[in-house]
Amino acid sequence: MNNEIQPKKLVVLGATGSIGQSTLALARSYPERFKISAITANKSTKQLLRDSLEFQPDFVHLMDENIATGSESEFALHNVSLYSGLNDLLSYLRNCDADIVVAGMVGNVGLMPVFSSLQAGLKVALANKETLVSAGHLVKGLVNDNPGAEIIPVDSEHSAIFQCLQSKHQSFKKLILTASGGRFLNSTLHEMNEATVEEALKHPNWEMGAKITIDSSTLMNKGLEVIEARWLFNCEVNAIDVVVHPQSIIHSMVEFEDSSVLAQLGWPDMTIPIHYALTHPQRMPLESLPSLDLVKIGQLSFEAPDIKRFPCLKLAYEASRNGHSYPAVLNASNEVAVEAFLEGKINFSGIPRTIEWCLEKHKVIKEPTVMDVLEVDRLSRKLCRQYIAGASRSTH
Ligand code: MG
Repeated sequence: MNNEIQPKKLVVLGATGSIGQSTLALARSYPERFKISAITANKSTKQLLRDSLEFQPDFVHLMDENIATGSESEFALHNVSLYSGLNDLLSYLRNCDADIVVAGMVGNVGLMPVFSSLQAGLKVALANKETLVSAGHLVKGLVNDNPGAEIIPVDSEHSAIFQCLQSKHQSFKKLILTASGGRFLNSTLHEMNEATVEEALKHPNWEMGAKITIDSSTLMNKGLEVIEARWLFNCEVNAIDVVVHPQSIIHSMVEFEDSSVLAQLGWPDMTIPIHYALTHPQRMPLESLPSLDLVKIGQLSFEAPDIKRFPCLKLAYEASRNGHSYPAVLNASNEVAVEAFLEGKINFSGIPRTIEWCLEKHKVIKEPTVMDVLEVDRLSRKLCRQYIAGASRSTH
């Protein structure tokens, strides 16, 4: 009998992004633990080709069909078959024998691939929080209905809570999500409105992609994470608090019924929660990281979030309390508003203003189906773009 432990087969969705590249780096360092079966990207062909040649996956996929058509011959030159479009990806996921699907793509594009993976009874290491925000009730249903389907959180806060809870069914009084406070923690409203895209993209602690870095600076990231936590840990948003902790050493906490609080601490490095999601329930050494040095860090501080300067957090709580299709509107309008900010079409305070307007205009759809969620997403994006075009015309 062969007792040798086989490496876990990974599908990496969003392989060229920040989470994807960190996952590939782990596979590079620990080939005995992880084997890359498939990699996907949205548009980044160069990185995708480099990674294909290095990891030799069975399936290589680019979401953007136009770019894929233009790049097929270059991939073919290197003997790599390039698949593209949503259908190719979904049919691969329905039939693959991966041990874990790492969902590292950004935004609501993750919805259908995550759905198909869960329907196929696969374990999903989820970094794509937007899917849980837009359609948490549907994701939960898929996990319950499909044997083998499971979600392991990758987001550092949720990984922390997952690590503090000793079982999925352990009861708790409160979840306490920590937030770094982002780029504008100590800025005035005026300074925030004058901020350039470059300034907003400088995160003090974490190195991440553009969308999540802007979400961190508006605190929408924390708002999305509150909704994500609500679904992952099966509680009301009223049982989730947010505390600003600028050092980003405590990644989140759980308060139990007897007021005892457990926290998970670590360097602000996504390698740790990604690795844990891939090796859970085991803990394996990560040689690249030194021990946490609390003496060197010196101080851990905490403060309440300022809702006046960061209204996005309040909008997220409200959307989650209103439920039904509201969180899908919150997510879609945020994606469009952040994109518009990155393109210089609106200023920083235009982000919450756009989202709030979009939420106010929305006519709720109760218990939305997956088709409803996709339609709400499409309409909200359209409405949001119209609002932004109108708002930028009136200021010029
Ligand atoms: Mg996070």
